[in-house]
Amino acid sequence: MSFQDKSVHCSVCGTIFSFSAEEQGVFQSWGCTNEPKRCPSCRQSRKSARHGNGGSDRRMFRAICADCGRDTEVPFEPRRGRRVYCSDCYRKVRPNR
Ligand SMILES: [Zn+2]
Ligand SMILES: [Zn+2]
Repeated sequence: MSFQDKSVHCSVCGTIFSFSAEEQGVFQSWGCTNEPKRCPSCRQSRKSARHGNGGSDRRMFRAICADCGRDTEVPFEPRRGRRVYCSDCYRKVRPNR
């Protein structure tokens, strides 16, 4: 069985990327018979979006630290009645983490 390098049009950004013979072999070993529809960079960004840990554009919410009263930002939406701490106080409150 032999594969040949192919040029594939990315369905997201329209870039033409190469689907190399080597990758085709890998795909087939996964049981994927379809060629990829996205270029490597679109595949990457889709993956990080799904796992929600892209890093830079993580959604942050403003909150007031329940301990020192400082403005802080937390990665979850602060609920009423729930104590929110800034990162310094969080370490004090939960020293085991
Ligand atoms: Zn793309
Ligand atoms: Zn604090």
